[in-house]
Amino acid sequence: MDLTRPDGDGQPGEDTPRSTPPPAQASELAIGFGPPPRRGRAAVPQHLADLDPAGRRELAAAAGEREFRAGQVAGHYFARLADDPGDWTDIPAGSRQRLADALTPRLMTRERSLLADHGTTVKDVWRLTDGALVESVLMRYPGRDTVCVSSQAGCGMNCPFCATGQAGLTRNLSAAEIVEQVVAAARSVARGQLPGGPGRLDNVVFMGMGEPLANYRALVHAVRVLITPAPDGLGLSRRHVTVSTVGLVPAIDRLAGEGLGVRLALSLHAPDDELRDELIPVNTRWKVDEALDAARRYFEATGRRVSIEYALIRDMNDQVRRADLLARKLKARGGPGWVHVNPIPLNPTPGSKWTASDPAVQDAFVATLLRQGIATTVRDTRGREIDGACGQLAAQV
Ligand code: SAH
Repeated sequence: MDLTRPDGDGQPGEDTPRSTPPPAQASELAIGFGPPPRRGRAAVPQHLADLDPAGRRELAAAAGEREFRAGQVAGHYFARLADDPGDWTDIPAGSRQRLADALTPRLMTRERSLLADHGTTVKDVWRLTDGALVESVLMRYPGRDTVCVSSQAGCGMNCPFCATGQAGLTRNLSAAEIVEQVVAAARSVARGQLPGGPGRLDNVVFMGMGEPLANYRALVHAVRVLITPAPDGLGLSRRHVTVSTVGLVPAIDRLAGEGLGVRLALSLHAPDDELRDELIPVNTRWKVDEALDAARRYFEATGRRVSIEYALIRDMNDQVRRADLLARKLKARGGPGWVHVNPIPLNPTPGSKWTASDPAVQDAFVATLLRQGIATTVRDTRGREIDGACGQLAAQV
């Protein structure tokens, strides 16, 4: 991921074996929404960010504490970003650690932190309680701070141009493991750890490792927590949360009905099935037209302009005729305003035969879309040299 202009208009599961299921199977899993996370409940402790306020109160009571303490702890966690129980001065000293252990157990440890772009891009590699690794990337832009988070350890979608896809799926993240990545970024921003001084985290994009809609329940819960006002949630603007998907059609429709109002990005990368079948294996299950129809329905249900992500790959998908076809398919589904295209130069991944388009070819592609009246913004690419750019996250330590 790279990222992300705001108008680029985003269970712990069973221990899924370390393998890459064929796309059809992956997508079936994705929309089965079967029993949620909590795989390996033993391995991934429950955390207040997995629960609603009532559940948090129960957890406090189970730890032998007064129920209302849960609300105080949530306030420290979400509103003050205070992770040291020693700072929770409105709670009796003797209860702080017990509440911290019960409600905010450590879910991840920073394994590595890599800087790029003069310190304005920070990639963190996190080790989860069961040893799985995930990455998040924090980016400071003029006037806004964005974090790109992972929804799964690895990914089962198997897209051949994406580094995460090459390693297969390790497991789904719990809601709290997702939220923790955002809270950690919010802390870094609030504590002035980026050049330019303290600020407030603005944007969250689900463009890190994993397919967010294949971890549906945890994703939706995490998003709710992110947009719930403090002190029960992080209080981010729903318009500043973007969920990016390969195009799991039933899950897009389900998300549209959640009333979350977050932005949707569809990773299209090709306007024709012949090519998209190769680039996005799940396209064999849900075709280009079905994915675009779902994107349009998402716009109709939410009023949020949808982003079409399009990694420009030299001599693969970057022809003017494909830009034309894309423009026609988007226009066929509605006038200006429902959709926005984000071309992004491919970030080459190790061993890949593909590379980014020639700049002149990229310009011609963009010009073709613009000429047809399609809003188009080339995404800026961040953190390439630390493998922190879109599609480069592989969690190799
Ligand atoms: N699974 C989700 C989110 C993760 S990837 C999805 O596919 O949308 C976030 C974005 O990075 C997607 O648009 C994805 O297609 C893109 N991407 C993956 N590999 C890339 C690469 N090597 N170069 C540029 N973008 C890439």
